[in-house]
Amino acid sequence: MNHSNLPFLPFTKPTIDEATISAVGDVLRSGWITNGPKCLELEKSLSDYFGGRTVRCFANGSATMEIALRVANIGPGDEVITTPMSWVSTSNVILAVGARPIFVDIDPRTRNLNLELIEAAITPQTKAIMPVYLSGLPVDMVRLYQIAHQYKLRVVEDAAQALGSSWLGDTIGSANHFPSDLVSFSFQANKNLTTIEGGCLVMNNEIEAILAQKLRIQGVTRTGLDGMEVDVLGGKHNLTDVNAVIGIHQLKQLPDLMQQRQTLATHYFDCFEKTTLIEQGLELPPKDFTNSNWHMFQVVLPIEKLHQLGMNRATVMQKLKDMNIGTGVHYPLINDFKLYRELGYNSNQTPIAQRVGSAILTLPLFPLMTSYDVERVVHALQLVLKEI
Ligand SMILES: *Cc1c(COP(=O)(O)O)cnc(C)c1O
Repeated sequence: MNHSNLPFLPFTKPTIDEATISAVGDVLRSGWITNGPKCLELEKSLSDYFGGRTVRCFANGSATMEIALRVANIGPGDEVITTPMSWVSTSNVILAVGARPIFVDIDPRTRNLNLELIEAAITPQTKAIMPVYLSGLPVDMVRLYQIAHQYKLRVVEDAAQALGSSWLGDTIGSANHFPSDLVSFSFQANKNLTTIEGGCLVMNNEIEAILAQKLRIQGVTRTGLDGMEVDVLGGKHNLTDVNAVIGIHQLKQLPDLMQQRQTLATHYFDCFEKTTLIEQGLELPPKDFTNSNWHMFQVVLPIEKLHQLGMNRATVMQKLKDMNIGTGVHYPLINDFKLYRELGYNSNQTPIAQRVGSAILTLPLFPLMTSYDVERVVHALQLVLKEI
């Protein structure tokens, strides 16, 4: 396709079809607009998608992860091993339940938690591992659960970006060839499936689901027509039917949307291989078309060379923006934020994440793009990096 539908190419953009928009209208007209039948229908569809596992939906991915930690009974005095290379909510929720995040360095190739560094970080206080599947690329699930099993740790998977990703042929969140504990997804507007805001938690059994449901609405359990009990402190984290109906439609489109992402990602590799950018030090993501859902296409810039030329990541982003190409940074390292520095963390403790975090750049990738858009991005990057 030798054209573009988007004069300015953002790094991402949701795909919402007319059937979805009209279904939202139907919910609004129905008179039942907060959580109700559409939420139940979405939970049922997701449960089917995850091979029959127990699923509940929540207002957003962050609330979903916090509830997952509470369901796993993680709280004050406990440590949770995680990665500093994530959206800050991953470790904010650990702090929110009163536990302590322990940041382990990443694998420079996958940019995910380096599983081989986990054992050295385990202490008697360690209760859980919270891996993040950056860009939708999972970690080695077999190894992850081997470690968890050996040290009797819970796993709370931050699979916010990994809906549709897989390992050994199993969809992340399902559990056939490897175990799976609590798996949290986000349906925020930028994710591969969106409900505008929303999330879901895949759990092990109905006992966990009942607790999650209570935590979702003020700890309330209803019985009969007039009975109500509150036996745990819950919050207000329910998903509305307006959001849920969007998710029902998105889930049906997910295979097609994923296929489009795959095709565009493949084209990125083909285009980059025709340039000298890789020899110039640009690092591409792992070429994993088996496991990844291609949530993002992230490159690592040759940052030292850029610095020698008086440039930095922001100047690269600005030059690309001037050529109508939007980019993003996912993510500034969590352990360098003021809140975290004041708690004694800093990115010197995770040097590989520090290097990758300072140079990582998210290029546009979303199903509405054309192959010509991919060519635009690669060409623009070639121009920006030509002096390197
Ligand atoms: C989006 C995201 C979250 C948080 O999800 P929200 O729905 O925005 O609360 C958490 N972790 C990762 C890795 C994410 O990408």
